[in-house]
Amino acid sequence: MNPELWIEEERPAIGGELFASADPATGGTLVMLARGKAEDIDLAVSAARRAQPLWAATDPNERARILWRAGELLMERREELARIEASDSGKPLSNALAIDVPRTADTFFYYSGWATKLEGSTIPVRGPFLNYTLRQPLGVIGAITPWNFPLLLAARKIAPALAVGNAVVLKPPEEASLSSLFLARVLADAGLPPGLLSVVTGLGEEAGAALVAHPGVAKIAFTGGTDTGRLVMRNASVTLKRLSLELGGKSPNILFADADVGAAATAAVSAAFYNQGELCTAGSRLLVERSVHDRVVEAVIEGARKLVTGPPLDPATQVGPLVSEGHHQRVLDYVAQGEAEGARRVLGGPWGPQGYYLSPTVFTGVDPSMRIAREEIFGPVLAVMPFDTLEEAAALAEATEFGLAAGIWTRDIGKAHRLAARIQAGTVWINTYNRFDAASPYGGTRQSGFGRENGRAVLDELTELKSVWVALD
Ligand code: NDP
Repeated sequence: MNPELWIEEERPAIGGELFASADPATGGTLVMLARGKAEDIDLAVSAARRAQPLWAATDPNERARILWRAGELLMERREELARIEASDSGKPLSNALAIDVPRTADTFFYYSGWATKLEGSTIPVRGPFLNYTLRQPLGVIGAITPWNFPLLLAARKIAPALAVGNAVVLKPPEEASLSSLFLARVLADAGLPPGLLSVVTGLGEEAGAALVAHPGVAKIAFTGGTDTGRLVMRNASVTLKRLSLELGGKSPNILFADADVGAAATAAVSAAFYNQGELCTAGSRLLVERSVHDRVVEAVIEGARKLVTGPPLDPATQVGPLVSEGHHQRVLDYVAQGEAEGARRVLGGPWGPQGYYLSPTVFTGVDPSMRIAREEIFGPVLAVMPFDTLEEAAALAEATEFGLAAGIWTRDIGKAHRLAARIQAGTVWINTYNRFDAASPYGGTRQSGFGRENGRAVLDELTELKSVWVALD
């Protein structure tokens, strides 16, 4: 049976239409999904607006209990959920089991705690007045997610929004919607009242655009590509919605000669190729101090060659297929473009008789002006570039329009901190890479977007600050 939309319960799209979601491992159809459109979004927003005031007035301890229970249920059902996420998105099952599902559960555990801890302040104002602030939920949050971490990115939007008393309507990615539908059921089983989380599968230009345009939605929390982000921002302006945009990246991973070069090279491999490079923070530009460049390239090639490319459900797989035919072709075009522009492909290429595979691909001799050095590829393609001085490294790091993340590898702690402060990026890792925690704020700057998810920071973006004045005389 085909999965349906989730609006208070399972139900078909009002128009009754379906669309195909592909199997990245074979190129066939994995599942037919309900094609939600504007009328389904409208139904979901109405349900959310009905349910939200009562939820906002619910004892925060009860909201906390439901979110905590959701985390527990996610862990109890992790095998099933991980298989769904892997077969739908192409990510290795081992990753889904070790990272996607547990981190999703962590997100619910973490925000469960915040339900009872959101406080206002009292402010010493002029005159005989008591002035205090209230933090109040915005109402209905529209969440829009991409296919690379569909479950975890949905949780980052849903858990904090529910914790502080909002309702959520989620438009998941058309290539990988199944884990979002699973999550809706988990939350219902955890005791979340109907209407507070709806999942409307469908196309971005239909269901997604309708969510952005809907006057009953207070805020859009969007993760996706930079061009789509621009469109969402334009369309959200009509109703003056709040907005957070988590967009693309082309993150520099900067390796100085005074680092633990072996450890840095090992980490550079996973920074570039984890999740097939379909990771917004992928360390897709490896900047290496010239004196250790050749040694690092050798170590990276050796490490990348050992990664096992294969079907997502094979427990040995470390690099799965790319999500779709269109995306696969786009990544292959970048590889061809890199060669045409004169970079040297020293490792990698298309893999397997079927499906959308590309084994880890490494380019050296990359000039910063080349497209493979500047544009987000979102696949397992690494560009290695040498530098001579710290100034040159800093300039190279910022030679793209993005500002999502950066890595710095050095034993000189002063240099590391100075550079971390200087680089324009939402996250900087020193002597490590791709560390995330539900407690630590995450987001971008420049063309990587604005707004923060995770940590305390997102709660400010999901609540309205109200100032209350009381005359004391
Ligand atoms: P897209 O921008 O194509 O899609 C993201 C979401 O937006 C999808 O659900 C999509 O629906 C929807 N959408 C498309 N058009 C519209 C529209 N007009 N109005 C509203 N919603 C719309 O990105 P991808 O799914 O291709 O994801 C890859 C991108 O996401 C990469 O560029 C990557 O950098 C970025 N990303 C950023 C992260 C971050 O935290 N900064 C994290 C992960 C990914 P549909 O699926 O139907 O097209």
